[in-house]
Amino acid sequence: MDQIVTSEQRRELLQRAIEARRIAYAPYSNYRVGAALLTSSGRVYTGVNVENAAYPDSLCAERVAIVKAVSEGEREFIALAVVTSNGGTPCGSCRQVMAEFGLDMLVLIADVDGNLKQETTVSDLLPGAFGPGDLGR
Ligand SMILES: [Zn+2]
Repeated sequence: MDQIVTSEQRRELLQRAIEARRIAYAPYSNYRVGAALLTSSGRVYTGVNVENAAYPDSLCAERVAIVKAVSEGEREFIALAVVTSNGGTPCGSCRQVMAEFGLDMLVLIADVDGNLKQETTVSDLLPGAFGPGDLGR
């Protein structure tokens, strides 16, 4: 499923991710992350990283956005914007969770000023992904 993402939609996703990032809960790393996920219904779900004093229980912004969308009945994702101070890329766990819902999703990686660092896809971020197909789905 290759869907066109307009420049207006891209701008909106980046803006929503930048705004979300402001409320990230990152008292330990101080590395705040904001994400915004566009679904096939046209809705946008935002996410922020939510850290925990027990570090491994921390959640990433990308996965928070995806979990919010899935918990609202959405499963078709068109594009995901991720914003950090320096345009850092999604971690391996987030790449795996993205891959569960499709390899074609557009991924926009930007810094906090909205400067696009990478425009890529899940399949480029996670080549050879293990996915539903491997379990016969
Ligand atoms: Zn992550």
